[in-house]
Amino acid sequence: MGHDTQPTASHFVDGQYIEDTGGEPIEVIYPATGAVIGRVHAATPAVIERAIASARRAQGAWAALKPVERGRILRRAADIMRERNRDLSVLETYDTGKPLSETLCADATSGADALEYFGGLAASLTGEHIPLGEDWAYTIREPLGLCVGIGAWNYPTQIACWKGAPALACGNAMIFKPSETTPLCALKVAEILHEAGLPAGLYNVVQGAGAVGAALVGDPRVDKVSLTGSVPTGRKVYAQAADQMKHVTMELGGKSPLIVFDDADLDNAVGGAILGNFYSTGQVCSNGTRVFVQKGIKEAFLARLAERVQEAVIGDPLDEMTTLGPMVSAAQRDIVLGYVDKGLAEGARLVCGGHALDRDGFYVAPTVFADVTDDMVIAREEIFGPVMAVLDFEDEADAIARANDTPYGLSAGVFTRDLARGHRVIGQLRAGSCFINSYNDAPVEAPFGGVKMSGVGRENSKAAIEHYSQLKSVYVRMGDVEAPF
Ligand code: NAD
Repeated sequence: MGHDTQPTASHFVDGQYIEDTGGEPIEVIYPATGAVIGRVHAATPAVIERAIASARRAQGAWAALKPVERGRILRRAADIMRERNRDLSVLETYDTGKPLSETLCADATSGADALEYFGGLAASLTGEHIPLGEDWAYTIREPLGLCVGIGAWNYPTQIACWKGAPALACGNAMIFKPSETTPLCALKVAEILHEAGLPAGLYNVVQGAGAVGAALVGDPRVDKVSLTGSVPTGRKVYAQAADQMKHVTMELGGKSPLIVFDDADLDNAVGGAILGNFYSTGQVCSNGTRVFVQKGIKEAFLARLAERVQEAVIGDPLDEMTTLGPMVSAAQRDIVLGYVDKGLAEGARLVCGGHALDRDGFYVAPTVFADVTDDMVIAREEIFGPVMAVLDFEDEADAIARANDTPYGLSAGVFTRDLARGHRVIGQLRAGSCFINSYNDAPVEAPFGGVKMSGVGRENSKAAIEHYSQLKSVYVRMGDVEAPF
């Protein structure tokens, strides 16, 4: 890679980089060229044991620290991340293939926001006093203990921070397992946290695929699991965690609706559809991939969309002029091209794209299908790539019913100039993270997460605290105990 800020070993455990070449090798592939740029090794049982033992050892003292001191360390880590934003962004681009024009403003910066936000919140996490006449009760907000974070490959820095920051703020330890497709960035998060003063063992990163994740989830010393991934993986991890009654957060996939009414500002709606389908080359869980466009503006919408898609600058992700990069892997590209074939076979109208690019790397042209109907595979299944399905609708009731006709419920968006309608429609959509005249914003201050098959629990905001802490309640009797005998 030729970059002096890359991690120096496979794992970060107990405050330092460690290597164990006995683990299965995992090649790090730069998606823009297909070149192997690094190699890590999956965690062996010995590495997993060291990660769990050091985390358990460190967690008690961390929980006993004054919360303001915990918060200060997280805020210091946020500052370091911001100072190193460019280097971290370059690493994120090597890991994922996302263009630097995105990674400079959406990854380490978003991670730093989480560290700053939860660092600031740490000291104000309290229990409450509950008056009961003469007696009283109080609650103590306690950490869960050892939390495991398991990441997807689309936002490796952000996911590592979105899980780590609230976990640590609440006094937990975390072991984070990145996706085997993007192993590098979380190691830098661990390094920076420890540089900021985090005691050894509290944020460990171990590499590996599903088997390493499952070994962590199944260990009785682990108290909570937070997964970002697909629904099939979520089912498995949730079931395994349930066996030992562990807490879970599940941030899973979606097939979210974006409804464009005929009174919408056309360019804003097209911009929202572009953000909700082509940002990060479409590899965003909350994407609005079913774009319902009211019949009256359908052709104008498609014409403007096709014009603006032509303006995408597809190319070298390290060139800051580039606005659309490759898919993360050859496997993901092939999945996406398979869906394009299904769309064509089922009779959807190809407006643009629909093919891989004739160059090195895993590039797919931004693709728009029109005349998509509700029963087509491309309208039902999560594609996780730059493929937009445009569906027509007649009226509000029709749009709402069809938008809700999916097992998923991560996000939903509405574009309209009629704000009363915007709120009315969003109120009836079954989704967790919604947008009116916007799409895909995810500020740390607002809760993020899905309903139905898209997940359980919320990340970000004060709501995340509920998922990384638990309440102990204490009844205090002030007088004598009256027992029946
Ligand atoms: P994936 O489900 O294949 O893998 C996710 C993670 O789970 C990886 O780290 C993987 O190694 C691990 N894993 C796999 N099997 C496991 C097992 N049995 N036990 C423990 N861990 C296991 O997902 P992906 O392909 O990396 O990511 C894409 C998916 O993630 C999409 O469905 C996308 O919608 C979803 N996603 C959701 C969000 C969100 O916040 N809701 C964000 C990003 C991505």
